[in-house]
Amino acid sequence: MTITDTRVIAHWLDGKPFAGTSENTAPVTNPATGQITGRLALANLEDARAVIDAAAAAFPAWRDTSLARRTQILFSFRELLNARKGELAEIITAEHGKVLSDALGEIGRGQEVVEFACGIPHLLKGGYTENASTKVDVYSIRQPLGPVGIISPFNFPAMVPMWFFPVAIAAGNTVILKPSEKDPTAAIWLAELWAEAGLPPGVFNVLQGDKLAVDELLENKAVKAISFVGSTPIAQYVYATGTANGKRVQALGGAKNHAIVLPDADLDLAADAMVNAGFGSAGERCMAISALVAVGDIADELVAKIVERTTPLVTGDGTKNSDMGPLVTKTHRDKVASYVDAGEKDGATIVVDGRTVQADGGPDGFWLGPTLIDHVTTDMSIYTDEIFGPVLSVVRVDTYDQALELINNNPYGNGTAIFTNDGGAARRFQNEVEVGMIGINVPIPVPMAYYSFGGWKNSLFGDTHAHGTEGVHFFTRGKAVTSRWLDPSHGGINLGFPENS
Ligand code: NAD
Repeated sequence: MTITDTRVIAHWLDGKPFAGTSENTAPVTNPATGQITGRLALANLEDARAVIDAAAAAFPAWRDTSLARRTQILFSFRELLNARKGELAEIITAEHGKVLSDALGEIGRGQEVVEFACGIPHLLKGGYTENASTKVDVYSIRQPLGPVGIISPFNFPAMVPMWFFPVAIAAGNTVILKPSEKDPTAAIWLAELWAEAGLPPGVFNVLQGDKLAVDELLENKAVKAISFVGSTPIAQYVYATGTANGKRVQALGGAKNHAIVLPDADLDLAADAMVNAGFGSAGERCMAISALVAVGDIADELVAKIVERTTPLVTGDGTKNSDMGPLVTKTHRDKVASYVDAGEKDGATIVVDGRTVQADGGPDGFWLGPTLIDHVTTDMSIYTDEIFGPVLSVVRVDTYDQALELINNNPYGNGTAIFTNDGGAARRFQNEVEVGMIGINVPIPVPMAYYSFGGWKNSLFGDTHAHGTEGVHFFTRGKAVTSRWLDPSHGGINLGFPENS
């Protein structure tokens, strides 16, 4: 493998790049070419503490910065991001592999959270009750927590951090972002943008690293809360360790998203949706549909319609006019392909085989084309495991009840969708299904920024979902104040529990 670029991707501390003292690095690769394009500085303990200390030092002044000033900076950040998002999209495509239009899409969804956070003065408003007791007033306020850690996965290097940091910063916290080792440059670009927008040094910091950096965020007493997104085993570990160390933690985990297609559905709409949600971003989305549950006798027709739409798709370099890019690493590509091998061995039917794809990209790219597998049963690893690749499995059932049971028996509960023209069936589904985010004739139901994003069961550990009012609550603590201004008529000794009069 040729090293085309020896640039070092550093940390960000106090408003500028920080090389750190560790000699440890990890290669960063362009998945479409297989070339190493940079070396990521992996923090040692000293580096991690330096970044956390910077966030802790910046907290008192940022906490006391007026809401007017904070929102001015957020508006500037939003304007700069909107004007220059093309640059960020190119960085994402070069390190993640997703096509440019998809990279722009993720930035757009992150930008919505910035726009939501621009309304923080309204979101932080408390309540006020005059004369709750005689001449006693009661009111509530919400205050920031302190330095907070955000630990993000490879699949959305811009959007996932933006689910959290706009709200955290707007609410008066300081941030330490620990990006994925696979695509860390987007975080540095965002840090530069914050500096340009006028954010004081130390409010937004980037800590590059692996488990060592994560463990220091989980254990360091200065860090008050952790927002984590990644695979379920690591989410469980982060939740257990962070809470054991007295921190507030929201840990979003993996997924296995089902889409039910009922016999009365518009099969063309459903087939379009299955292709978009199954193969978009090469299936590396936590809201991707990986199991299509076909109810009744529509399966043959629906599968034929999906094949018709899948065959012309171009898998290739995301900077070209491709529909779908490569997988993020060679290891991941081989793991996904091994699941397809296992499905074939277990007796499922490979209808479209992505293992033989002719990709429009470099010979060393991590290619796997869209793969459609029919007659999948619930005991096959292709069904039981999160695959996180462009693999759509078709499970055939006879009734709606069987379809619902499949979803509710699944340990994950991130997203799901139903395709039907029957409003009563859709309404019943939204009521009965044990999943956090539901689409009705919508395949990837990612909620808007003013609602909250998060799954159920093994897809989320903690009580709070991301952004929306739940996000504001996660990054703030409430206080209730009971006040009485001096009034001589209310003096006197009374050792009883305060009662209202
Ligand atoms: P991952 O769990 O491997 O990594 C996530 C983060 O944890 C990274 O920053 C990584 O450096 C860190 N990490 C990895 N191993 C660790 C360890 N042993 N100890 C401490 N930290 C560790 O996940 P990934 O492969 O980057 O991302 C894909 C996963 O993320 C999928 O499972 C996907 O479903 C999930 N995801 C979930 C959501 C959601 O909203 N629920 C959103 C996006 C991605």
